[in-house]
Amino acid sequence: EKTVAKQYIDGVYEQLRQIYGHEREFLQAVEEIFLSLEPVFEQHPEYIEHNILQRMVEPDRVVSFRVAWQDDENRTQVNRGYRVQYNNVIGPYKGGLRFHPSVNESIMKFLGFEQIFKNALTGQPIGGGKGGSNFNPKGKSDAEIMRFCQAFMTELYRHIGPDIDVPAGDIGVGAREIGYLWGQYKRLQGAYQPGVLTGKRPGYGGSLGRKEATGYGTVYFVEEMLKDIGQSFYNKTVVVSGSGNVAIYAIEKARHLGARVVACSDSGGYIYDPDGISLRTVKLIKEEKGDRISTYVNYHPNATYTEGCEGIWSVPCHIALPCATQNEIDAEAAQVLVDNGVKVVGEGANMPCTIDAINLFLDNRILFGPAKAANAGGVAVSSLEMAQNATGIFWSFDEVDEKLHSIMKDIYANAKRCAESYGFSGNLVVGANIAGFTKVADGMIMEGVY
Ligand code: GLU
Repeated sequence: EKTVAKQYIDGVYEQLRQIYGHEREFLQAVEEIFLSLEPVFEQHPEYIEHNILQRMVEPDRVVSFRVAWQDDENRTQVNRGYRVQYNNVIGPYKGGLRFHPSVNESIMKFLGFEQIFKNALTGQPIGGGKGGSNFNPKGKSDAEIMRFCQAFMTELYRHIGPDIDVPAGDIGVGAREIGYLWGQYKRLQGAYQPGVLTGKRPGYGGSLGRKEATGYGTVYFVEEMLKDIGQSFYNKTVVVSGSGNVAIYAIEKARHLGARVVACSDSGGYIYDPDGISLRTVKLIKEEKGDRISTYVNYHPNATYTEGCEGIWSVPCHIALPCATQNEIDAEAAQVLVDNGVKVVGEGANMPCTIDAINLFLDNRILFGPAKAANAGGVAVSSLEMAQNATGIFWSFDEVDEKLHSIMKDIYANAKRCAESYGFSGNLVVGANIAGFTKVADGMIMEGVY
């Protein structure tokens, strides 16, 4: 017999599936949350009365626009741009911009949907949103990147503002892109409003510690998980997928805490270094040269490069930190990790594990830190950047880092407590989902039907 709560959840999901059946990533993100919610609706019939679920899965609005720009050969190119303004109950829409050829409405909506709960978990006053374009930054010149960013902002600027919607970076969008976007916003707006974008370079309105925040935050979160079982990063073997902003600073903080990080990757393949990854070399390759991770072996002959990024999960480790992209760990990869003795998995990327992979980890009693809790450090410091922009008072690196650390501890404690109180002790997936969901749901009820 299905409970009333379960019937309600299934009904909303089925309707969604009929309308958006082709939006695979979006439905996956929705399903992952819905799986946690039955006990919530049992305890809170008012959520069903207010039809919270059906309202929450529909974004406030989806802006989709043409971006035309000229490449270095003076050919006019066209891309699709998006901004999904999902939910602003807790604060202005907030979330990154992703420039990647895979970007479509499904990816934008999955990321925006996750962002609502992640942002709620930070305890900061920020709603959920996401945007981006199917523009491929790979191989583009600096001038092309600038023209694309300017063209993108020429449409986007009318939809955003420091207390309307505040974009930031994500895959393919770093401080350089944010700089070009910000310059164009300022020109179009005719006013200096740095709080409209976060991830700016320190010196022109950015926050110290923002660059490091997502990676550091993920490690701080996993550190709390380890503490609970009387362990730490010290002397542990760690595998970090990716070699972008999240991965680099996850590696850095894990090493500060005494871990041995032996592998990282990019979309082409992965490197394994038995001596421990040289972060200096990875930074040189990725932050300065913009080169492939395969070139790492030119600097470190002891290291090996293997083509295909999925293979990284066959490297034995205590702690796995997927910091590349969505669905990079499926059930098969998860099984390999479990067979090789992994003890802890912390998600630095957004939705890097499939639902089957997560269930496999939980069934095998692997400690699992879900993305919307474990990678919330980036957006948390974005919120601190907004606060600094609003007041004109800027904090030192250590001050920001300390605030980030305490936010990550709070998120962990909150998710853990929530899991316990709903009868899912130790399950941080359920804990994070419920903690984020109830905060937004309560806000929606207070604000009336919209
Ligand atoms: N893109 C990051 C995320 O997935 C950060 C977003 C932000 O700082 O607004 O949370």
